[in-house]
Amino acid sequence: MAEAAEDGEDFLDDSPHVPRDGADPPASTSQTAPPDKKRNAFAELMSPKLKAPKSDASDTKPHRSLKSLSPWKGALLDYIKHPERFPDSVLRATPNTVLIKDSFPKATIHLLLLPRSPKHHDLHPHEAFKDAEFLAMMKEEAASAAQIAAAELGRQLSPFSAASKARNDAMDAGIPYDELPPGRDYLSDIRVGIHAHPSMAHLHVHIISRDMHSDRLKHRKHYNSFNTSFFIPVADYPLDEDDERLRTSFQNANLSKEFVCWRCKKVFGNKFAELKRHLNEEFENWKRE
Ligand SMILES: [Zn+2]
Ligand SMILES: [Zn+2]
Repeated sequence: MAEAAEDGEDFLDDSPHVPRDGADPPASTSQTAPPDKKRNAFAELMSPKLKAPKSDASDTKPHRSLKSLSPWKGALLDYIKHPERFPDSVLRATPNTVLIKDSFPKATIHLLLLPRSPKHHDLHPHEAFKDAEFLAMMKEEAASAAQIAAAELGRQLSPFSAASKARNDAMDAGIPYDELPPGRDYLSDIRVGIHAHPSMAHLHVHIISRDMHSDRLKHRKHYNSFNTSFFIPVADYPLDEDDERLRTSFQNANLSKEFVCWRCKKVFGNKFAELKRHLNEEFENWKRE
């Protein structure tokens, strides 16, 4: 197997939690009621629970090996088959996709969009996205998911944001909603893409804020998989056949690159601890934009 990038070690924890055995499905909302579901999911996202996953599965992973990847796949299948059973994780379920919180977020906002089509969800994204109709559907659902992510990012950041100040002040002053000055464009801080060599078999699109500020960010690959061309924006699909991002050697090289700050482009070589300290500082600067 040429895909050294997909070693299971560093990507395992970009996955959602394995639902606990015997976790009772809560008395259920219908999974086929989009408007209502959407509203509930939004309210759920707006709650402060976003950064506090309830399950403690993350801390009890017994070992990290490729073998332990197999339960993840089952877990993702459960999400798409029975989204109503996971109200703490699922933000939105449509007939085509399920949007969940990544339980090991690598940034302030980190969601996963899972397609429900059995014909596509086991394919590598490069293959699945060759289906133009499927790709169009995923782009559309990812775009609305990014809006949800941006709204939550705005909720968390706007108290600090210089660009949002006038809008916040106007809101406090009771100015009607449609007369408010524009605030910061939080959508521009949300990225939508896939990993060139995904860790999980089940097709998933990452919807992630750009800050990389998270105590779940623990390894080189955690950072580089989102901050090099290893991360491929869904908007870039379909890729040309000669796109270098399709080459395994190119992608493995990306993962072992020196660390470069996403914001100021400062190079940190192999110094992960220094990078992490710097990311904390940049988070404070970015928040205040
Ligand atoms: Zn991934
Ligand atoms: Zn920087």
